[in-house]
Amino acid sequence: MAEIKLTPMMRQYKDVKSGVPADTLLLFRMGDFYEMFFEDALRGSRLMDITLTKRQGVPMCGIPHHSLNNYLPKIVESGVKVAIANQVEDPKLAKGIVKREVTRIITPGTVIDSSILSPSQSNYLVGIAAGKKDHFGIACLDISTGEFQITEVENSEELDNELSRISAKECVIPEALLKNWDENKNKPLPGMPIVWSTLEDWNFAYDAAVDYLKERFGVASLDGFGCRGLNLAVSAAGGVLYYATENLRHKAGHINSLKTYCTKEYMVLDPATRRNLEITETVRSNSTDTTLIKVLDKTRTPMGGRLLREWLLRPLYNKESIIQRLDSVDDFKYEPLTLAEIQEVLGCVRDLERIIGRLNVGSANARDLIALSNSLESIPGLKILLDSYKAVLISQLNTKIELFPDLTTLIGTAISDEPPVTLTDGGIIRDGYNAALDELRQASREGKKWIAELQAKEQERTGIRSLKIRYNKVFGYYIEVTKSNLEQVPEDYIRKQTLVNAERFITPELKEVESKVLGADDKAKALEYELFQVIREKCITFTDKIKDTAAAIAGIDVLTSLAEAARVYNYVKPHITDDDVISIKCGRHPVLDATMKDERFVPNDTLIDSDDNKIMIITGPNMAGKSTFIRQVALLVLMAQTGSFIPAEEAKIGIVDRIFTRVGAADDLARGQSTFMVEMVETANILSHATDKSLVILDEIGRGTSTFDGLSIAWAVAEYIHNTPNSCAKTLFATHYHELTELALTCKGVKNYNVAVREYGDKVVFLRQIIPGAADKSYGIYVAKLAGLPDRVIGRAKEILDNLENNAVSEGQPKLAEHHRRVRKKKQIKDPKQPDLFSWQ
Ligand code: ADP
Ligand code: MG
Repeated sequence: MAEIKLTPMMRQYKDVKSGVPADTLLLFRMGDFYEMFFEDALRGSRLMDITLTKRQGVPMCGIPHHSLNNYLPKIVESGVKVAIANQVEDPKLAKGIVKREVTRIITPGTVIDSSILSPSQSNYLVGIAAGKKDHFGIACLDISTGEFQITEVENSEELDNELSRISAKECVIPEALLKNWDENKNKPLPGMPIVWSTLEDWNFAYDAAVDYLKERFGVASLDGFGCRGLNLAVSAAGGVLYYATENLRHKAGHINSLKTYCTKEYMVLDPATRRNLEITETVRSNSTDTTLIKVLDKTRTPMGGRLLREWLLRPLYNKESIIQRLDSVDDFKYEPLTLAEIQEVLGCVRDLERIIGRLNVGSANARDLIALSNSLESIPGLKILLDSYKAVLISQLNTKIELFPDLTTLIGTAISDEPPVTLTDGGIIRDGYNAALDELRQASREGKKWIAELQAKEQERTGIRSLKIRYNKVFGYYIEVTKSNLEQVPEDYIRKQTLVNAERFITPELKEVESKVLGADDKAKALEYELFQVIREKCITFTDKIKDTAAAIAGIDVLTSLAEAARVYNYVKPHITDDDVISIKCGRHPVLDATMKDERFVPNDTLIDSDDNKIMIITGPNMAGKSTFIRQVALLVLMAQTGSFIPAEEAKIGIVDRIFTRVGAADDLARGQSTFMVEMVETANILSHATDKSLVILDEIGRGTSTFDGLSIAWAVAEYIHNTPNSCAKTLFATHYHELTELALTCKGVKNYNVAVREYGDKVVFLRQIIPGAADKSYGIYVAKLAGLPDRVIGRAKEILDNLENNAVSEGQPKLAEHHRRVRKKKQIKDPKQPDLFSWQ
């Protein structure tokens, strides 16, 4: 490339650019634009779809400064990091070119702008530190709220599980770890998070991390946070917090503590299971299907919405904690009027967590203060409503909710009712709050009166009735006289500008008045800004209390939301036990139950335990409802352990340590050409991790390969689960391999079920009822007819089927006949030991 001679501005640009990481897009403020140059211009013009130009050989492009927030979401979501360089001195006072500095770097994990963040989802930046033996420390930070949690996991599979649960937007790791992962090609979860960032290894060194965290939190020891023995987690925390503050270029005082948690306190859900159960996302991204969270979410605050999500993605494992949640939901559900009242109050509470976050990083405006104050004002009413409840968890949360009379009074007396978004244009502070401000405002108001008086005087003096005193940014105040009256203009008028129809003048007297008016206005605005900063500092001193209060309100919001869902959908309180039995009377699939319009959802019973009913094998025709049923059982267990009531008439849920789901390749449409290999890897994962306490959902496994391979594998898997001590998980197995029903003959814990079907002459009706015994017909042709296959094809298929069934194998017909005949013979074996599901108890 030809050597380009650098202007002073370009030199400054290069300096700033060399101070930000190479992969970061630099937006350089020049006048009213953010400009990009060189490679950044090429990249930026593509990313933002804006025109690329060239000046003196330098590629460049730019966006108007006020539309920055329109462009940022798209860029950041695509995983690009952006550095914003602003002018850091007043251009009027600058000697030479204005000084510019990077004032913040925005990465997917460090966003705080409310225009980019989704209110219903936390935005996590995750630090990972690796130890020996595949151990990892995880530190999970939401800068927008100050939430900071750390934990340790014992292998990379657990790391995957945590990362997918957190759905991290960005991960920060030591350089050495990234190199190691890249070399061994074993980076966790491809495509997740959106970006990986690195820091030099020393940032994650334990001693450095401890020192840094102690200094940031202003404490002498981290033991108070429960960090003892969690060295890897602390290392991760040090690294991630360093990265966050570096990028924000701000002190972020709201991140002033952290919490530890242990993954063993929760039910484990691997990424595939979260996906298959469609908890927060549907399997097919473009489908109209809905998710569990959409059905259940009746929260009224953004904090509550985020917490519900967290609860559903991380159900509890501890019996007492589950029961505490359920008891609270029960209490709230019991009195619908009070419940509605509480929810109405919650509806007035805004995103306290993010407001206090913005105040701390300096990006809050006066409207945030009004929102804060309005939210805090509704708290006393909320506390009174909550006082009447006895449930332990409700009382605990209620005591954590604090009152903020000083703060609401301060904001109420200081900030005007409808302040503007900008902080520098005045209009923020109320009259009567500050005497100096009131004086300046008066001067400015009087000044305007003087201008009006001056205009009247000049009209009088010149005899020009249409003479006007006007204002613009370039000249300040000026006198405008139309062309037709120019002759009457006095000697002392100084001409400033000639327009088509008029001329503009100033006079010394006008300029004198102007300096008083404008001076007062500017001073008033500057003072307002100062006063706002002082009030902001005041608010920041309440950060901890507000954070705790917001967290408690979120808890109340989720519990009341669960109570409302329980009322709306007619759910019951599950009975939680330790005894490995899951028995559900008339259970319904929560999502289909809530969304089915034309038909009624048919409820089904479930009995599964660690003894005679360990494995349910469910056979039945396509479209009969097998997949729906087995997912329903998993969802009801998950809901129960979340603390939610469930769609059933009665239910006993023995706590489960983990839910596994495996969906056979052909059913797993989301993966497109999903391979048999993936299916087998996931099956292997289940077999090596399932315990007696686990719940396993297997939907058509073995489908991805030839019939006999698939059948043999499915058979062996079921047998393995049944016969392996300590990993004999409760299993629901939906399959179209009728042969599998024979397992019940040799394995004591296997029970056969099928989906009831009734034939009316030529018509077949799926009754959607799960009944004991093996299915005896596949009704494939019926389903084909439903799907609209031409009558001639259906007719011919029936003929072939008849022939096959009568063993009349003829030329050109499938050789599978022998196989089918065998199957049909075997199906006639009935198992006498089936439990009677429909007599309850
Ligand atoms: P299978 O796995 O046996 O092929 P699915 O579980 O996919 O069948 O169910 C097919 C369709 O049947 C579902 O999309 C749903 O519309 C309907 N369905 C399933 N179970 C029920 C039920 N219990 N009540 C009403 N409709 C149901
Ligand atoms: Mg199915």
